[in-house]
Amino acid sequence: MVTAVMPTYGRKDVVFERGEGNYLYATDGRRFLDFTSGIAVNALGHCHPALVKALTEQGQKLWHTSNLYRVGNGEKLAQRLVDLTFADTMFFCNSGAEAIEGGIKLIRKYQYVNGHPKRYKIICFQAAFHGRLLNALAATGNEKYLEGFGPPAAGYRHAPLNNANVVRDMVDDETAGILVEPIQGEGGVRETTPEFLKALRQICDEFGLLLFYDEIHTGFGRTGKLFAYQWSGVAPDVMAVAKGMGGGFPIGAFMATEKAAVGMVPGTHGSTYGGNPLATGVANAVLDEITRPGFIEGVHERGEYLKGKLQDLVKRHPAVFAGARGTGFLQGLQCVVPAGEMVDRLQSLGMLVVIAGENVVRIFPSLIADKAVLDEGLAILEKAAVSFEKAGATKAAD
Ligand SMILES: *Cc1c(COP(=O)(O)O)cnc(C)c1O
Repeated sequence: MVTAVMPTYGRKDVVFERGEGNYLYATDGRRFLDFTSGIAVNALGHCHPALVKALTEQGQKLWHTSNLYRVGNGEKLAQRLVDLTFADTMFFCNSGAEAIEGGIKLIRKYQYVNGHPKRYKIICFQAAFHGRLLNALAATGNEKYLEGFGPPAAGYRHAPLNNANVVRDMVDDETAGILVEPIQGEGGVRETTPEFLKALRQICDEFGLLLFYDEIHTGFGRTGKLFAYQWSGVAPDVMAVAKGMGGGFPIGAFMATEKAAVGMVPGTHGSTYGGNPLATGVANAVLDEITRPGFIEGVHERGEYLKGKLQDLVKRHPAVFAGARGTGFLQGLQCVVPAGEMVDRLQSLGMLVVIAGENVVRIFPSLIADKAVLDEGLAILEKAAVSFEKAGATKAAD
């Protein structure tokens, strides 16, 4: 018999009832070190006092009014993010995939109002992840996710990452834009090079295309900058954000330059919930915390520490780990042993991590994880590695 919750996920058999900072507590009393951060969502850990305060205070005042009226919290949040980034304007939605779809609409409308109504195609990248809605899914391009859902939405082609020549060859007179994650998450923490982003920028400028960054999991301090593109210095025309933005309260957005957003006039896009007072109230509180002087620099510094330690771990256990990669608190450990078994082993040792492509486990501490918390996670990783080695030695002796 089907479960009451539609069984679309392969879930681990554990129910959490409470979260505090970097730890989750299960109904059976077990405590877990949370290095998933709800897949890069709980930027400030669980139940951060400043977020609980913002949520409860706003919750007693006003939750939702619809977008028939101005929303003060949303106007404030948008102005702050515009001041902090390349963007001049932004649209609030409720999830990552919605932000991607909105950005795609913006790009097509830009081409349309600029006299290129035939331009609708988006060049994407192999091993990308952009979400599960029908166009976001076509942009993702993963055959397994697309199977059985009819013809994939038209106009999405996939180039290999970090090869600008292939991208250039793919541009035709129907191309509207290029969509790229500065660091691919689901794909296995695969990083773009600054040279590659520069080349994409050049291609866009040369052919009149818009450059669209998916910073849904890299944004809001995760990589040790407010947004990952700031490492390269190459600004996009459009950017999708979500995940860390609300610290666990569902909110997303697409952001754009004034020039790129030229077609997004009244009536062109909408969302009933998007940017309501409660969501934007919480997101303002998240931004208060991560823009505190020194906060993001601290993530960068501790990210370097974590990365160094992960590289040492790989060196000590070459039969278990193949490599470490990533930036800030977005780290990936490529495994030699099956990554799924590593995730389970770590869970049995009291630590939660996220699986990704290329046999990688993603290490996503909350941005408030200090060195002691990182060391605790590193010690559990060490233990897991040793246990795999012991099992390997026993097997070899048999
Ligand atoms: C999570 C994610 C998405 C999809 O976000 P949802 O909120 O699940 O729709 C899109 N792109 C990237 C890079 C992501 O990490």
